[in-house]
Amino acid sequence: MLKSDARTRAHSQSFAKWIIALSYFARSAFGVRGVFAPLLSGPMSRTSRQQLLQRHVTQLLQCRRCPRMQSTPVSGGAIMSDIMVVGQAPGPREPVLQRPFAHTAGKTLFRWFDEFCGVNEAAVRSRIYFAAVCRCFPGKNSSGTDRVPAPDEIRNCSSWMDNEIRILRPCLIIPVGRLAIMQFIDCPRLEKVIGYTFRVQRAGHRFDLIPLPHPSGASPWHKISPGRELTKCALELIARYPAIAALSKRRRQSENAATLG
Ligand code: SF4
Repeated sequence: MLKSDARTRAHSQSFAKWIIALSYFARSAFGVRGVFAPLLSGPMSRTSRQQLLQRHVTQLLQCRRCPRMQSTPVSGGAIMSDIMVVGQAPGPREPVLQRPFAHTAGKTLFRWFDEFCGVNEAAVRSRIYFAAVCRCFPGKNSSGTDRVPAPDEIRNCSSWMDNEIRILRPCLIIPVGRLAIMQFIDCPRLEKVIGYTFRVQRAGHRFDLIPLPHPSGASPWHKISPGRELTKCALELIARYPAIAALSKRRRQSENAATLG
């Protein structure tokens, strides 16, 4: 290789490193996608990604890959967001009400967001993308509780989540419950992962992961020490996360504007 070629290549590599560093800085400082992200991930516009996401959700709702599932898929809609919440699987109510976390677990989850992050249910649903390990209700098991999705069903459904990560390129994913957490990191015990932030890669994209315990009444983990304190710690991490803090700020601004108006 000629010396000048080598110099040019070295300059380009160092320029690329600067762009990557600046992009990460912009993302962590402002909680939004780095201003240089389009240079790093192709020229796809927000409108194109919105269209892709809309098409993705339409196809997801038609999915019938798992014959043992007891409902059709549930989706929270094609919400363009930097943040994803990943649940486990819908219960019996969600397919009827046609939205994720529509019943008791949802009440607790949205109360957590409201109390710790200052973002109410309507704002969470309209600003955060909701995914799940499986999108259909698995049915009940012999003891009358919700059946845990089988490995083949989780495998079948994982391509939907991979596609969502490719389209949205989120900065933060919040997996809710052990089954959801285990799709990203090892989770031998909730005590080892709740209250921490992890840097994770999936579907060719790197993002932060802040796990939460499942808020269903079936598991008392989040109500009893040390789960109670660790859950508080995780919610405080989420509240301080720049993209979440931006949602809270936007809500306060719109409330102030409504009061003044
Ligand atoms: S669980 Fe997922 S992969 Fe299986 S039928 Fe439902 S949407 Fe399709």
